[in-house]
Amino acid sequence: MSARAGIVVTGTEVLTGRVVDRNGPWCSEQLRALGVDHESTVVVGDRPADILAALRWLADEGCSLIITSGGLGPTADDLTATVVGEFQRRAMVVDEPLHMRITAILARLTARWPSVDQESIAAGNLKQATIPEGATILEPIGTAPGLVVPPPDGGDGPTVVVLPGPPSELVPMWEAAARTEPFIAATEGRVAIEQSMLRLFGIPESEIAATLRAAAGAGIAIEQLEITTCLRRGEIEIVTRFTPDRQALYDDFANFIADSHADTLFSIDGTTIDQQLAALLTGPPARSIAVAESCTGGLVAARLTETPGASAYLRGGLVVYSNEAKSSLAGVPAALIEEYGAVSEEVALALAEGARTVLAADVGVGVTGIAGPGGGTEEKPVGLVWCAVSLSSGESAVRKLQLPGSRQLIRDRTTTVIMHLAAQLLREQSS
Ligand code: ATP
Ligand code: MG
Repeated sequence: MSARAGIVVTGTEVLTGRVVDRNGPWCSEQLRALGVDHESTVVVGDRPADILAALRWLADEGCSLIITSGGLGPTADDLTATVVGEFQRRAMVVDEPLHMRITAILARLTARWPSVDQESIAAGNLKQATIPEGATILEPIGTAPGLVVPPPDGGDGPTVVVLPGPPSELVPMWEAAARTEPFIAATEGRVAIEQSMLRLFGIPESEIAATLRAAAGAGIAIEQLEITTCLRRGEIEIVTRFTPDRQALYDDFANFIADSHADTLFSIDGTTIDQQLAALLTGPPARSIAVAESCTGGLVAARLTETPGASAYLRGGLVVYSNEAKSSLAGVPAALIEEYGAVSEEVALALAEGARTVLAADVGVGVTGIAGPGGGTEEKPVGLVWCAVSLSSGESAVRKLQLPGSRQLIRDRTTTVIMHLAAQLLREQSS
């Protein structure tokens, strides 16, 4: 049986959502890579009783390893080390060598602020050097040490790995934690778990559910794979976890999906459409891109620049909200807008061509639509968006969307469609 682990994320700021939890998901991925089964993440506020209850619950669930994040600072609301000490029935003791190392770190830090209250610094320092007896110390990245706290002597409960809250401190401490003897002992029996992702675009989730039933019907033992499907930003992700001995079974399953959804499956290795478009533009052949946006107001350009290295192919973008701007900046003939309206196939295409010409790019993108909530008419309702891509070689592609949802959703979904439309056209051109 594989080793099971739980995560306790502490911090009232995370519980309330003021800070989005990055540590739980990150640790989860590390556990998966190690072959440890991550069973639950519990998020609790900075209350000792709640932290203790979370530890007890995960121990009762059979976790042999528990990771905590947060609450290791010098202030009174940072209580995790003490609570874990109580949980493991270990006395809290000052570790003198650690005390001196933290003193040295603090001396360096406070040299820049001569006016700080030395007394409270010393108190915080002593608190951070007070650790459960028998714990392994993980050297501080900031001022807080991490801890690996084994179960009570003679007990057989979980080992608790105590890590600081700031991701910039937690991440570099992980490797050291995973190398400690109690961590290795607590994850004995781990088995490597593979994880693969398929991505599809332009297909409802219900169809995937039907395909999964069909795969089972065709004799593929999908119950031996852990399959989860998730709809995200208009794309469907099928994430499958499996032990390495089931690779052949997974391949059968992936092939079944590929055969059933050849037209909508765009990624079999987990790559995103953003990465794929970037690769197509990088080439060979290398191609540059430019955008002219109305209803997305620069979101397409922003999305293109999210990928590192975008300067190699992105020429620039025009935000052309008014009709005048569409004409004067993107070169859309005023007569065309007059005849078909700003939200039309003709204007989307003219925007794409305009972006390409004005910014001297190989690929032009144009988008115009009604993001709402106002501004819709019977003929052109809210959610109507025209997307166009135009290539200097003469080919073009246009797509009409009728998107449901809020203004934010409509604008975001449009950027995803544009990424796919551009990638498709470039792929067709290359093939
Ligand atoms: P410090 O010495 O900075 O107080 P700490 O170990 O006590 O460290 P916390 O007080 O729990 O950690 O958190 C400090 C800051 O780290 C939070 O305000 C937040 O910005 C960030 N942080 C904490 N936990 C998380 C988390 N789960 N995900 C993302 N950021 C977090
Ligand atoms: Mg703190």
